[in-house]
Amino acid sequence: MTIHILPDKLASQIAAGEVVERPSSVVKELVENAIDAGATAINVDIREGGRKSIQVADNGQGLPAAEIEVAFHRHATSKLQTVEDLTAIRTLGFRGEALAAIAAVSQVTLISRAQGETTGTRLVLDGGAKVSREMAGAPQGTVISVENLFYNVPARLKFLKSDNTEKRLIDEFVTRYALAYPHIRFRLAHNGRITFQSTGNGSVLDVLIAIYGPDVARQLLEIGDSRLEIEGDSPISNLQSPISISGFIGTPAVHWSNRGQMVLFVNGRWVKDNQLTFAIIQAYHTLLPTGRYPLAILFLTLPPEEVDVNVHPAKTEVRFRGDKAPFAEVQRVVREALVADAPIRQMGAWQVGSQLEAMTPGWEGSLDQHAFVRPDDISQPEMELEWPPEEIIEPAGGQTAPRPMAARSSQLPVMRVVGQVGAAYIITEGPEGLFLIDQQAAHERVLYEQYHGEWQAGQVAMQPLTVGTAVTLSPSQSNWLNHQLPTLATIGFQVEPFGPQTFMIRSIPQLAADRDAAHLLLSIVTGVERKPPAAADLPLYLIQLVCMAAATRAGQSLSQPQMAALVQQLEQCHDPMTTPHGRPTFIYLSVAQLAREFGRI
Ligand code: ADP
Ligand code: MG
Repeated sequence: MTIHILPDKLASQIAAGEVVERPSSVVKELVENAIDAGATAINVDIREGGRKSIQVADNGQGLPAAEIEVAFHRHATSKLQTVEDLTAIRTLGFRGEALAAIAAVSQVTLISRAQGETTGTRLVLDGGAKVSREMAGAPQGTVISVENLFYNVPARLKFLKSDNTEKRLIDEFVTRYALAYPHIRFRLAHNGRITFQSTGNGSVLDVLIAIYGPDVARQLLEIGDSRLEIEGDSPISNLQSPISISGFIGTPAVHWSNRGQMVLFVNGRWVKDNQLTFAIIQAYHTLLPTGRYPLAILFLTLPPEEVDVNVHPAKTEVRFRGDKAPFAEVQRVVREALVADAPIRQMGAWQVGSQLEAMTPGWEGSLDQHAFVRPDDISQPEMELEWPPEEIIEPAGGQTAPRPMAARSSQLPVMRVVGQVGAAYIITEGPEGLFLIDQQAAHERVLYEQYHGEWQAGQVAMQPLTVGTAVTLSPSQSNWLNHQLPTLATIGFQVEPFGPQTFMIRSIPQLAADRDAAHLLLSIVTGVERKPPAAADLPLYLIQLVCMAAATRAGQSLSQPQMAALVQQLEQCHDPMTTPHGRPTFIYLSVAQLAREFGRI
């Protein structure tokens, strides 16, 4: 084949592919145009997942009659004049590609009347070519109908998913923009039935309620406007530039099996950013069950010069000029909100009670998955509550340096133990109300922080076994264990191969010294077998499993001094509110709530 320039039509179809991938990308571009046009109400009507038709109607400023046709040309835009404008984009569109791209691969009808004009215009295009143009009566604003998307690009058509999947992507997109633009009234209808609407009253919380319902909305924490200085490297001024973050995050009581509920907006634009998403996940570290993800809707605002939005035609990626700053800041604000509001969260958990389980399927289930082999010994030794224990066995080759005590930032008030209920819960009184503490969960948290601190410092205290304990495992378990012996050693288990599927345990972590060594090791092996963690998470996961196995159980009555010691240790924890895998350690009932319950106020 000789080299030749592609015909315009084919070139347009190829270019269209980058902007319009599926029905939801059409919705995205049209809604963004409506927002840029200053609309206060946007209606989206979809048929058959957008495959049959997509109509977006807005009450924005409209297209002047003289510009209606040129708007559909490639690189036709009213939003950009010079190359300098590119460095400070304030509109959602700027590339002038969307209308041309959409028109190239569908049949478009546009009706628009511009502000200040008396009649509207109706323009019909087929595969980008004009079919008709006429005057039409219309209210101010724009209505674009896109029919039979990809009718002329069969290759694309094949890649579309089921109507339901396409519909879900559109829902996702419209609801997200309703969150970022709470002053705009959004309405979304599928096949003539309204599936989502927002009021446009300006309240992000109201939109969240519309999307997630009141139960989830009760589990939200607001992130305030936080301003920080990031270093600007703009050539014009080396002044520091501000970034602010606001939005809502879910408490650890609500979580999902995928990352889809973490939504980021940068200067009003929905973006995908793996780094920032990871910052959110990290902020929830140990607060959520493994494999579960939080809800977070964050709005980042920074000077437009600090963000490059011109990374890809779809405009869903951005680059920050001061690369690391937003990451650390996102992580900080999310973490702070979680820590600050934790007691309120417990009360919320108390209030929604049973709904909580319905709302977070797998919450209980995920606990079961962690279930360890319980040694059925009835004569469990008394738990060791004093920490650190009198005799500490330093790790092999151990230094005599004192064991590190993590810096404590207590968030629990000092409490007075009132008593124990059902051999499972400790009742305490704090300055503002009553706490019902799950003794097993609390002890798990206490053990975890101690153990994790030791592990981080590379100084896990070990209990050597004078006579080793032998365990026999299944072939796959042995195979796994053979590969993990070094990792196990870092958390206090010295284990040696001892025959084909048999291992000899030489030491166990000190904090589980009173547990049966074989059961302890089995609880880890089966825990990992049931729910294998990502390789990078393995040590922390193993630590969690050991803590679960080592913690005092429900069903064990505790003496007053034992309860007092446990409560005191919990008070000193860094994250006392939950177990390492996210189960609450206590329920809080405030004095005010008690008064309300008794009808005093
Ligand atoms: P871009 O948004 O990048 O400028 P588009 O192809 O999406 O490019 O739109 C081209 C131009 O058409 C816009 O710059 C704008 O002037 C005009 N336009 C598109 N949609 C609307 C609308 N809903 N209301 C008013 N003007 C619109
Ligand atoms: Mg646009």
